Amino acid sequence: MLSGATFCITTFGCQMNKHDSERVSGMLQKLGLVPVDTVADSDITVFMTCCVREKADERLLGQVASMKNTPVRKESPFGKRYVCIGGCIGQRDGQALLDQLGHVDLVFGTHNLNEFPLLLQECVEEGIRQASVRDGRADFPDNMPESREHAWAAWLPITVGCNNFCSYCVVPYVRGREISRPFEEIATLAQTYVAEGVKEITLLGQNVNSYGRDLYGKPRFDDVLDAVSASGVDRIRFATSHPKDLTDSVIERFATLNNLMPALHLPIQSGSDVILQAMNRNYSAKHYLDLIEKLRQARPDIALSTDIIVGFPGETEDDFLQTCEIVEQVGYTQVFTFIYSKRANTPAAELVDNTPREVILERFERLRTIVENGALAANKTYEGQRREVLFEGAAKKGTLVAAGKSEHGLTVHAEVESESLLESLKGSIVPVQIDEAKTWYLVGKILDS
Ligand code: SAH
Ligand code: SF4
Repeated sequence: MLSGATFCITTFGCQMNKHDSERVSGMLQKLGLVPVDTVADSDITVFMTCCVREKADERLLGQVASMKNTPVRKESPFGKRYVCIGGCIGQRDGQALLDQLGHVDLVFGTHNLNEFPLLLQECVEEGIRQASVRDGRADFPDNMPESREHAWAAWLPITVGCNNFCSYCVVPYVRGREISRPFEEIATLAQTYVAEGVKEITLLGQNVNSYGRDLYGKPRFDDVLDAVSASGVDRIRFATSHPKDLTDSVIERFATLNNLMPALHLPIQSGSDVILQAMNRNYSAKHYLDLIEKLRQARPDIALSTDIIVGFPGETEDDFLQTCEIVEQVGYTQVFTFIYSKRANTPAAELVDNTPREVILERFERLRTIVENGALAANKTYEGQRREVLFEGAAKKGTLVAAGKSEHGLTVHAEVESESLLESLKGSIVPVQIDEAKTWYLVGKILDS
């Protein structure tokens, strides 16, 4: 009944959500459905949602509302468009979302992604609307087909869920407790990906450093890195790392594993110990800086990026200045800055929050300037260097500028002579001479290898 129909997936939020979308796409294609790029061309539209910050909630509601005005495709086999909402908002709101949005047909959660095709089939065949959400799961969700966005890059989740309960964060509530993927399965998957031509594997988890705590025999994250490295894949990356669980043994891998890329995203959230404690992060600014020191000893050229929340309840000017100081001191290539967003049912939502909005916005702008200056200074250090770039495609549709990522995870742009050369570069690792640093990318010339 579904075969031949078209589908479009819109994804919000983190890499884990993007990977879940690849699984949804894989499952639908297995049933004979055809992926399309636009909602207008789709018979089935799926929103994979995020609820980490309020803005993501608002964007979803806006996009779903606007669908009322998107006409049904002429060739639709159903005479209507099916609208489905999955991911973290689906998990959090379930039936309430179906009640609130009359033109939504199906709501599903993070724990029953694998049931999505069946639920959709029921909606179509029985003419029903339904919400189906499960409380949690005991084992790692696997065995779902996936359709990778890029043939040469694979996301490999090694854990799902989170046990950390940072006081501002909804993730542990919508993604559940941490479950580690069986070690052998990760090793085998890495080998399979390499056999399929994958050049870059990104290990995923809310906190990859705590991998294995729930497993018999206790293989840990350093063992995972060794096993994935042994697959011979060109590039390994991982996200995200919690500073409280980053061990010396993992840090050492940056010195010893030649396919572990010299880049690390290490969220600090705040440079103030008072705020870190209120956030329940379980490390101090000093501990974080000691880690940076050790990382630079292991791999002097390591590129560092981080996440920072501005305006956490009770943040004073002095707390904020401590954050600015650390950002200046570390010299990040990238900093993702977020304004604190109060999330219902998290412990931080109970805290007194009396910093005026305009003060928070002013701090946010001040930090942005520091971040931009720091990123440009960090990028300048690459000028004149030869870097290996994994090319992904055009920097902007329709231009003859190819874009890819350097070993340090930095975006590199390089002009190419023709469309066919640009096409042939996709998925290749090619040497590039870096000529110029911009704030958010590097510009270079492709060299003959
Ligand atoms: N597990 C990862 C990522 C979690 S969500 C980690 O611990 O780093 C990604 C980022 O969103 C977080 O690092 C944090 O900076 C931000 N974030 C999470 N909850 C937030 C909230 N309530 N308000 C503002 N930013 C938030
Ligand atoms: Fe959220 Fe903290 Fe878990 Fe990251 S580690 S997902 S910020 S609770």
